[in-house]
This record gives sequence, C-alpha cells and structure tokens, in this order.
Amino acid sequence: MENLLDNIRALENVSAALEPSLEERNNYANELQKFTNGFIETIETNKAYNIGDADAQKLSIHPQKKTLTQLLEIYNDEVVGKGLSAASGGHIGYIPGGGIYTAALGDTLASITNEYAGMYYGSPGAVTIENELLNWMKTVFDFPMNAIGNLTSGGSIANLIALTAARDKHKIKNERVTQSVIYLSPQIHHCIHKAIRIIGLEDVQIRLLELDGYSRIDSEKLKTVVAKDIQDGLNPFMIIASAGTTDTGAVDPLEIIGNIAKENKLWYHVDAAYGGFFILSESKKHLFKGIEMADSLVIDPHKGLFLPYGLGAVLVKDKEAVFHSHHYTANYMQDSLANDQINPADVSPELTKHFRGLRMWLPLNLHGIEPFVACLDEKLLLTTYFRNKLSAIGFNLGPEPDLSVSYFWYPETEIDQNDFNVKLMNLIHEDGTVFLSSTKIEGKYVIRMAVLSFRTKIATIDKALVMIERCLAQTKAHFKI
Ligand SMILES: *Cc1c(COP(=O)(O)O)cnc(C)c1O
Repeated sequence: MENLLDNIRALENVSAALEPSLEERNNYANELQKFTNGFIETIETNKAYNIGDADAQKLSIHPQKKTLTQLLEIYNDEVVGKGLSAASGGHIGYIPGGGIYTAALGDTLASITNEYAGMYYGSPGAVTIENELLNWMKTVFDFPMNAIGNLTSGGSIANLIALTAARDKHKIKNERVTQSVIYLSPQIHHCIHKAIRIIGLEDVQIRLLELDGYSRIDSEKLKTVVAKDIQDGLNPFMIIASAGTTDTGAVDPLEIIGNIAKENKLWYHVDAAYGGFFILSESKKHLFKGIEMADSLVIDPHKGLFLPYGLGAVLVKDKEAVFHSHHYTANYMQDSLANDQINPADVSPELTKHFRGLRMWLPLNLHGIEPFVACLDEKLLLTTYFRNKLSAIGFNLGPEPDLSVSYFWYPETEIDQNDFNVKLMNLIHEDGTVFLSSTKIEGKYVIRMAVLSFRTKIATIDKALVMIERCLAQTKAHFKI
C-alpha cells in the first residue's frame, strides 16, 4: 500500500508539468502574445508567398525538450516563413483565408474550457451556441427554422453531409446507382466529386452541364438534358448549383435551377462555400434569389466571415434524410438520450469535436455584423478597382465577375499566349509580394484573383499592381519582346 502511494506521488510530480503554474501561464501567454503581435504588425510588409520546403529535421519530435521561445523561433522560420501566408491580405489567390483575432480568442477559450460540443447532454451551452449560429444562418438564407445543420471543419465535410442526405432521401443504392443521374457544372468544386465517391456513388451518371459566357449553368440546356434522361428511363435525383464557383466566382441562376429541380423532384443542393455570405451585401442580394429553395446548402464561415481555417456549415431541410446515416445510438451513449435538442453528433460523421462554434459566436457578438458586411462590400469594390487598373496596364479581363473572383491574361501575339502567361505567373510566384493563382478557362491559361481576405486593402492592390508590372517587364525581357 505504502509502495502504491509512493508510486502515485512520484508520477504526480512528473505529470504536474501538464498543469503549468499561474506564473508559467502568464509567461507563456505573454510570450505568445508578443509573438502574435509581431506577426500581425509585420504581416503586410512581409511577402505573401515564399517558395521553399520546410525542414523536417527541425520540426520532428525530439527526445529533448525545448522552451516556448525556441519553439516559436522554429515556428517562425519553418511555418510562418514558408509557403503561402494565408492570413495575409496579399493572399489574393485560390479562395483566401481569414484569421480575425477575436476568433482566435474564441478558439483559446474553447480549448481551455474544453467543452464537449458533440452532444447537448455534455454541454447544453456549447451545443446551444452552435445551434443558435445555425439558426442565424437559416435566417440569413431564408431557410425554415426546422431545417437542421452542422458546423463542420470546412466546406468539404459540409458538402459530404449534404450529399449523403440526398443519397439517402432518394435511396440511391445497389442497382439504382448506375441508373441515377447527378447534374453539375464543370466548374463545381472538386470536393463534390470526392464526396460522390466517398458516399459510394462513383458509378452514378454525372452530367457536366453547359455554361454561359459568365461561367454560369445554362438553365435552358439543363432542362433539355433532364427531360432527355427521364425519357431514357434514367433516374435523375440531384442538381448541384454553386453560389460562387471557385474558378470564376460565378453564381448560377439559383431560382431558375430551383424551379427545374422542383418540377423534376430533384434534390437541390447549393454549394455557397465561397460566395454565400455575399448575400449580406445589398449590391449582391439579388444574385442569391432562389437559394432558399435549396434542399441543402453549404457555406464556409472560414472564407466569407474571415474566420481562421476550420469552420464550414451545412443546412439541410429534411431532418430524416440527414439522420438516416448520421443519427446513431450506442449503449455507452444511453445517458445522452433524454432530451429533444439536435445533437451535432447526429448531423455529422464526427462525435467528439472541437467546440468550433465559439470562434464564430465570439466575433459576431463582439463586433456585430456591420464590420463583416462592410468588409464584404469593400472586397467587391476592390475587385472592380483591381480590374480597372489591370485593364489600364494592358491586360485582358474575364467577364464582369458576379462576386470577388476574376481572371486576366496578357494578350501576347508575338509568342504563344499561354507560354507568356505561364512565365508571368511563375515570376509572380517567385516574387511573392502578393500571391495570385492561375486556372484554365476554355483551354486558355489565365491568372486568377480572388479578393476575400479581410486584410486586403487598397494598399495591397496597389502593391500587387506594382509587382505585376515589374513581373510583366521581366517576362517581356525573358522572351526578348
Ligand atoms: C472552398 C470551397 C469548398 C471546399 O471547402 P473547404 O472548406 O476547403 O473544405 C467547396 N466549394 C467551394 C465553392 C469552395 O470555394
């Protein structure tokens, strides 16, 4: 017995390191705050993109311990200093990330209190916060209050949950799979294709729809294709539209497609991961008319609400369709059954999860919605500003964008236009002052801009323009033009 107690006490002395003292906590917090303040204060003067590999040796787990000071130094060199600076306003490629400070405070609070946000039983408050955030999004998108939803890690898992519900609602399984049809745009986000495979629908028939000159689904053609499939005895069951495609930011004609879905009893899914929150902008509200007709909807607060990575959302009108695959009871969960609240775990593949709602709840309550809307409006105007200036330099522009993604290319005639623009893009990446990405539009290589970071300001765009002109001159010199 004495031995047992001695052993426990000896272990307690060692394991006590996991609960730092008040003084140690203050020291850690101060050091971290100093580091993050330095990060924020220099982020706009540092490059947005640094080509280079991380040093795995420095980042590996060593037997000998390090101090927080040493670890922050390694973090600064190997993590912050390499690749894409996603928190930078100079991130104008892909779909930019956010990272507002007060969301990080929410994450810290959620981590330290470590509330169990999977089941209402475990933390009624945490689950209510998440459900209230979903309720708020229902009002934003004019969804009925009895729709259900989930805060996911991002748009990919949110789309996965929605597509699973569609599959289960329409009982797409066994021999029905190969006869069933999904309609989508060739510009749909690739996570939709992943989701289709993950949920066992690889062999379903996928109709890639024709697009109009603005990269939106051509709804007349859609009607024709659906009618033909029905005539051929197939089983059309889902149409997926985008409210803001990744490539060009196009918003499909949501209301018209919604009506086609209704007439043909198709599950209507809208992927608004990138564009959804632009519904809050008065100037863009009209584009979203019809989004409320969707059976399921995906929105990414880690894009359009400028939160740090790790927060997507899905709303689904048909609760039973979602519950079919996600609601589960197990013997060891029996204590949790005695209430009628929606449990996040019943709407998601996840059981235990980070209390991710807090990073959205805290900023929305601290700042109110107004600065978020102003920021979205600002991004739209900056996109116009950027395009005007590019045009003045001599670039050709893609069509007037629906939202804040657009593209441009240099109309070179002396050498192959694609080769010229590839070289220009490579030089822009090597420069790294501001990060842009590229895509292919109808076989043409184009440079893509996506303005969505809350830190992207006029000064950022001006800096981007100077960089682009510099790289353009270098490209011309390279080809001796
Ligand atoms: C970003 C994006 C996704 C994927 O979301 P993640 O949060 O990256 O998982 C899906 N659809 C669209 C339109 C997107 O922009």
